[in-house]
Amino acid sequence: MSISEPPARFADLQSIDDPVFRRAGIRCSILRLDTFSSYANGNKFFKLKQNILQAKAQGFTRMLSFGGAFSNHIHALALAGRHFGISTVGIVRGDNLSVLNPTLTDAVAAGMELQFISRQDYKRRNDADFLNYVRGQYPDCFVVPEGGSNVLGVQGCMEIIDHIHSHEVGRGGLIVVPCGTAATLAGIAAACDNGEKVLGFSVLKNSHYLDAEVEKFIADLSIESRDNWTISHDYHCGGYAKLSTELVSFIDKFEQQHNIPIEPVYTGKMLFGLHQMLQLPHQSIAAGTHVIAVHTGGLQGGRGMVEKMQRKRMSIASPK
Ligand SMILES: *Cc1c(COP(=O)(O)O)cnc(C)c1O
Repeated sequence: MSISEPPARFADLQSIDDPVFRRAGIRCSILRLDTFSSYANGNKFFKLKQNILQAKAQGFTRMLSFGGAFSNHIHALALAGRHFGISTVGIVRGDNLSVLNPTLTDAVAAGMELQFISRQDYKRRNDADFLNYVRGQYPDCFVVPEGGSNVLGVQGCMEIIDHIHSHEVGRGGLIVVPCGTAATLAGIAAACDNGEKVLGFSVLKNSHYLDAEVEKFIADLSIESRDNWTISHDYHCGGYAKLSTELVSFIDKFEQQHNIPIEPVYTGKMLFGLHQMLQLPHQSIAAGTHVIAVHTGGLQGGRGMVEKMQRKRMSIASPK
């Protein structure tokens, strides 16, 4: 199969019946990027797709990128690389990982070569001199930045709109997406129809710089700037991969009510933020809106959050 072919199938758009949305007069559907394929899981596949195409077009047979020990990006690179016939190298933060965790076990099983580096070195992953050094060590590798957040990554995310529009009810909605680097949001905003809007939920603390990042990502596509998107910075729950008891309770309840697995770092946090926002006295999403929440996947990385979530549940069960 060639990577430029259209996907074998489109992601499901699953309508959910939830009292909080119902009370606000809002329809909500979940775009299931978490389930639409075994090798192309979540938004990270979209961020990689054009990078893989470009690597192949330039004659590379190997790709290299960077990530933490539970990185969805590293996992997606390993799986997509195997599927599309390109070798992969993962530069992983942490030099003391003698026992592989489930993420890295999967990556190695998919044929990825791992190189561990210290947290200190990892901080330099975007520095020009460090990248030159890496390219010297791996001259046959096409290098992709952490998270796949380059212009090719943004271009790939424009395709998420095709998955939404493949559904009859998928046009004209408010598309909601979690934001780390906001490259995914930028791609979706760039590809939206007139009248469609995008609302991002930042999963990071002090993330107002993301607004300028989105402008930059869209400018890099050489298209006009867009005014169809906003990012909420109010629901990070303390920062990246940080949990609150409210967040964990929400996720447990949501999974039980809707039978949709979510994780607390991205999609769970976005849905929590959306729920909180809808319960504000003057919330800004108009009645009659169709909210299309993008489930960006990440369930494999959620395996690294199980214990942390359990500790929060214990603190709920026995408050001080
Ligand atoms: C990386 C990631 C995101 C964030 O994507 P950005 O393009 O960096 O904003 C969202 N959800 C999941 C599951 C991810 O792995």
